[in-house]
Amino acid sequence: MKKNYKIETQCLHAGYEPKNGEPGVMPIVQSTTYRYDSTQQIGDLFDLKAEGHMYSRLSNPTVDAVEKKIAALEGGVGALCTSSGQAATLLSLLNIVKPGDHIISASTIYGGTVNLFMVNFKRLGIEVDLVNPDLPLEELQKYVKENTKAVFGETIANPALTVLDIEKMAELAHSNNVPLIMDNTFATPMLCRPFEFGADIVVHSTTKYMDGHATTVGGVIVDSGNFDWTNGKFEEFTVPDDSYHGLVYSEQFGKAAYIVKARVQLMRDYGTYPSALAAFILNLGLETLHVRMERYCQNALKVAKFLDEHPEIESINYPGLEGSKYYELSQKYLKKGASGVIAVEVKGGKERAARFMDALNLVIKEVHVADIRTCILHPASSTHRQLTDEQLANAGIGGGLVRLSVGIENVDDIIADLANALEVSR
Ligand SMILES: *Cc1c(COP(=O)(O)O)cnc(C)c1O
Repeated sequence: MKKNYKIETQCLHAGYEPKNGEPGVMPIVQSTTYRYDSTQQIGDLFDLKAEGHMYSRLSNPTVDAVEKKIAALEGGVGALCTSSGQAATLLSLLNIVKPGDHIISASTIYGGTVNLFMVNFKRLGIEVDLVNPDLPLEELQKYVKENTKAVFGETIANPALTVLDIEKMAELAHSNNVPLIMDNTFATPMLCRPFEFGADIVVHSTTKYMDGHATTVGGVIVDSGNFDWTNGKFEEFTVPDDSYHGLVYSEQFGKAAYIVKARVQLMRDYGTYPSALAAFILNLGLETLHVRMERYCQNALKVAKFLDEHPEIESINYPGLEGSKYYELSQKYLKKGASGVIAVEVKGGKERAARFMDALNLVIKEVHVADIRTCILHPASSTHRQLTDEQLANAGIGGGLVRLSVGIENVDDIIADLANALEVSR
């Protein structure tokens, strides 16, 4: 793949380059296994001396093509697909933290990630401090401890829609010799490429905009290749791995040490690899990602402007709207648009929000976001139901807040449906 192709072209052509007479589209390689002529060749695969597929829990040609495409889109050295976004976040961190370690995370993150950090990481003895990402760097530095191993945040937070100051968080991470891991789900590489602002690792729930069609749960981890794992803080990269006859990841794999280790050590043991079919479907979504993201952004901005001026709306948060608290950050980090999700607080609190939602005809009530179809959700009673009131407040979620995910229908139809529901739910 020629490196100088523009990102839109990469959506279509990166990852799979068929040779003479081969299928034009990467086929679904529905096989768990791969045949070899000799035991020696298989032995070399197990020793990581040779490249090749051995078993579809570790790699598969269809998934591999998608991994290469996403790595190209983000500008990374490699990617690892996972069976869900949750699995991507989980493995991205377990690859570098162990019991007794500490993570600093923005408090405005996906509710499932809050659960992962506060329930199961706690159980594993991994401590996470959820911090207000809008604090100045000096204040954030106070959370750093001797055992801090990573800084984590979301480009555009789900559902609070805070825009992270990526350069500030990268500074926080790098001044303490730890990596910045960014969940880039809502922005996608079409709107923001966090590596360009200093992030080291990117994760996605591909379930959202990347798949786009609301068909397939999945995730991905992408490695920038920029972090120095030999800085003394991450011995798992410099000390021999006995489960591979004493292999040292940083020596053998250089810039790709992180993503290779995630695959051959963590994926081997945790087994959250996607199926070839899931990857094939994800690829169909990726092929039109650039076209869809443009339309989501256009539609969402029009809907946001309509809601902003509506008398029945208490407050609105869309980072692309002038006057939004995050407008300036969005102008810096989201130059091509602020994605498709809008948070609105309808006047009349929780009950009114429910009446409003029930009065919608076109807009779908579902537990999803980033569907091609416009959909709506009430976080406090669904995705964020497990959180305490304090955690809800920290995540920026009020009782009457609804999360509107604007799709790619004709925007006039979306606005008419919202206008009608606001009227009849008064
Ligand atoms: C949905 C989501 C996740 C979790 O992804 P799944 O694919 O549902 O496991 C993680 N981060 C963000 C920002 C999300 O929106």
